Amino acid sequence: MYKAFLIKYSEIGIKGKNRYVFEDALVRNIREAIADCDGVFEVTKERGRIYIEVQSEYDYDELIDALTKVFGIAAICPVVLVEDKSWDNLCKEACDFVKAQYGDKSFTFKVEARRSDKNYPMTSPEMGIELGAYLLDRFPNMQVDVHNPEVRITIEIRDRAYIYSKSIPGLQGMPVGTSGKAMLLLSGGIDSPVAGYMIAKRGVKLEAVYFHAPPYTSDRAKKKVVDLAKKVAVYSGTIRLHVINFTEIQMAIYEKCPHDELTIIMRRYMMRIAEKIALENDCLGLVTGESIGQVASQTMHSLRSTNEVCELPVYRPLIAFDKQDIIEISQRIDAFETSIQPYEDCCTIFVAKHPVTKPNVNVIRKSETKLEDIIDDMLETAYATDEIIEITK
Ligand code: ATP
Ligand code: MG
Repeated sequence: MYKAFLIKYSEIGIKGKNRYVFEDALVRNIREAIADCDGVFEVTKERGRIYIEVQSEYDYDELIDALTKVFGIAAICPVVLVEDKSWDNLCKEACDFVKAQYGDKSFTFKVEARRSDKNYPMTSPEMGIELGAYLLDRFPNMQVDVHNPEVRITIEIRDRAYIYSKSIPGLQGMPVGTSGKAMLLLSGGIDSPVAGYMIAKRGVKLEAVYFHAPPYTSDRAKKKVVDLAKKVAVYSGTIRLHVINFTEIQMAIYEKCPHDELTIIMRRYMMRIAEKIALENDCLGLVTGESIGQVASQTMHSLRSTNEVCELPVYRPLIAFDKQDIIEISQRIDAFETSIQPYEDCCTIFVAKHPVTKPNVNVIRKSETKLEDIIDDMLETAYATDEIIEITK
C-alpha cells in the first residue's frame, strides 16, 4: 500500500549553510544504496525533507533493508500520499489507512497534524481534533490517549498531503562523504572492520590498507580481508583497499631486533607506511581497531610507542570497548563469521612467545636503529608493491 517514504534525519550539527551538503550527500547515498533494489524509485529533497517515491512494483522488505544500512537516516516512515487534500477526502483516506494498517486491533492513538501550506483552511490543532473525532466515530477499537499513545497518526499538509504512523528506526550517524576521508588499517580480525564501520558512521569516507606477508600468509588470508572490506563497504560505500607486501620488513625485524619487541616494531612500521599512503590519498587520519589492554601490543605503554611514529591523528573508536561489545557490533554488521575464519595473518605468525607489555620507547627506538642501513630501501620496495583493489558491497 505504500508508494512513498519519508526519510527523517537528525538535524544536530547540520544547521546553517552546511545543511545542503548534508542533505545532498544523504540523497546521493540513498540513491546508491537502493540502486540494486527491484523497482523504480525517485529520491527527492523538498524543503527540509527527503522523500522516496515508488514508481513501480517493488519489494518492501528489500527496500527497508537497504535503507536501514544508510548512515544519516534517523527514521524511515512509510507514507500514504494524497493528491486531493480537501478535508473530506483526507478524512476518508485516513480511515482507509487505519483500516488497512490496524484492522480491528484495539489501540490508543493520537492524531498529529502539521501544515506547511499556511493557506490551508484549517489550523493544525483543529485538524487534529476533528480527525481524531472522525476516527473515533468509525473505529470502536480505538481510544484517544494524547499523552502516551501507542500509535501516532501523523497527517501533514504540504503541496500534497501525507499520512503515516509507522517509524522504522534508521542507523543515525552522518552521511558518508560529509566528513573527509580516513585510512583504515584493516586486518583479518574482529576489531578493525568494526572500527571502520564506526568511523564511517560519523560521515567519514574510508580507504584501507592491509599488510600481508606471502608466502607466510596465504592468498586465502588476503581474500578474507577483501571479504571483510566488502562487509564494511555495505555501510561505508566503496573502499579502495591497498595491499602491501610486508614480508621483507617483517623478516628483517625478526632477524635483527629483540623478539619480545617484534610486534611493537612491526606495528610502528605499519603505521609509518599507512601514514604515507594516507597522505598521498588525501586522508586526514588513520583508523585502527585497538582497544586498551586487549593484547600486549595494546597496553597504554604499547600504544604510546606505536602512536609516536606518525603525525596524522590515529582514530581508535574501540579504545574503551570490551571484546564482547565489539563482537556484538561485528555480528550486527555481518562481519563476525568472516572474521573468525582461521586464516593466519602476519602478526600471528611472527608473534613472540613473551612480548613486552610495557615497552620503553627509548629502548624501542634503539632497537630500530639496527635496521637503519636497510630500512629505507625496504620501505621503497614495500610501497612499490601497493596493489589497489576497489571494494564495493
Ligand atoms: P583485529 O581484530 O582488527 O585484527 P586484533 O585484536 O587482532 O585486531 P592486533 O592484531 O593487535 O589486534 O592489531 C591491532 C590493529 O592493528 C588492528 O585492529 C588493525 O587496525 C591493525 N593491524 C594489525 N595487523 C594488521 C595488518 N596485517 N594489516 C593492516 N592492519 C593491521
Ligand atoms: Mg589482528
